[in-house]
Amino acid sequence: MSEERLSCSFCGLNKLQTKILVAGQDAHICDQCIEQAFSILNHQNKSNDSSINIEKSDLINPKEIKQYLDDYVIGQDYSKKVISVCVYNHYKRIYQKINDDSIEIEKSNVIMVGPTGTGKTLIAKTISKMLEVPLAIVDATVLTEAGYVGEDVENILTRLLQASDYNIEKAEKGIIFIDEIDKISRKNDNPSITRDVSGEGVQQALLKLMEGTVVNVPPKGGRKHPDQNFIKLNTSNILFIAGGAFDGIEKIISKRLNMNAVGFKNSKLKSVVRSNQIVKNIIPNDLKDFGLIPEILGRLPILTYMLDLDSKDLRQILTQPKNALIKQYFKLFEIDGIKLTFDDDALDYIVEKALEFKLGARGLRSICESILIDDMFNLPGSKIKILQVTKSYIKKKLDGISFSGLKEAS
Ligand code: ADP
Repeated sequence: MSEERLSCSFCGLNKLQTKILVAGQDAHICDQCIEQAFSILNHQNKSNDSSINIEKSDLINPKEIKQYLDDYVIGQDYSKKVISVCVYNHYKRIYQKINDDSIEIEKSNVIMVGPTGTGKTLIAKTISKMLEVPLAIVDATVLTEAGYVGEDVENILTRLLQASDYNIEKAEKGIIFIDEIDKISRKNDNPSITRDVSGEGVQQALLKLMEGTVVNVPPKGGRKHPDQNFIKLNTSNILFIAGGAFDGIEKIISKRLNMNAVGFKNSKLKSVVRSNQIVKNIIPNDLKDFGLIPEILGRLPILTYMLDLDSKDLRQILTQPKNALIKQYFKLFEIDGIKLTFDDDALDYIVEKALEFKLGARGLRSICESILIDDMFNLPGSKIKILQVTKSYIKKKLDGISFSGLKEAS
């Protein structure tokens, strides 16, 4: 084919009308079409990069996050609200344009203070389920400073990697829940001459992770050693949620309130208020007085509290959440073709027992297991197709059982 008769296969322009005509196998493309294609490509890449546009529309707002939490977590309205806002802001921060040089949004790691069994872990689990991001739950008490007996702090990240099937990108947007953070408090009676292996040292090590840094993570956990291959993980976008019971924090809070009240003629504050009321006044300084180092508190800027669950809460926990305990038992029996029912006063009695033995929400399960264990063993395969659980039936089943041992186990 003569040069003059060649044309662009895209726009049909004759070679003579173009600056350049690039030849492919069976086609040609002119400079103008190349430019146009380039700009389409560029536009497409840009909208992929500016994840804020795409991801932001995917983000659910704080009210929706709270609604989701409401389906699983009973009560704890204040904490659910705080966490919803914090999670929303956290993910907004992640999806902020990378090269957006305007205001940098700081990380919003959270610390939850509240008695054991009040839903701290449950909130973290529910958030991770909702966002479909990996979650690692770690117990601060097993952590030690590198070089001491116990787990290196980096192993937390190994857990997160495992939870994300070693998908680094996923892990870097995951959630780490550090339970029992109060147990690594600085011991007042442990002056700095002797190293505080389990307390302050661990807090220092955690600080680095929370600050956001690139960490060499041993893929299988365990102690770091020189010939090991490491996975590099950036912790800048990992959301850290810490939880702890902080036994005795009420004393610190009320002491501060009384002291502050001096000169304010505020005698009301001196009156004994229920611990639920006291904890509502918590401020970061109280946690410092408890033994958390100021730097770590600085890295956990969102502070929230969990309230003791009362009988009304426990009653709801039994039946209301999407995967409520009683619903789970219904399902288990239904699979064997057995219709299980609970009388209302039977459910009230379970709650009464959980409170009596100070087992809290966690105790509900142990109590239900004790009630139903024989039936779960005997009924499958039998002729019985209906099981009605009454208060007197429970009394008979729980007769002689001591739940006091469960307190430690829970
Ligand atoms: P924590 O982390 O505060 O010690 P968890 O979240 O592990 O307590 O609670 C233990 C179990 O008790 C949960 O798995 C859940 O079944 C139940 N539970 C505790 N608090 C609540 C709550 N507020 N709403 C619903 N269930 C709860």
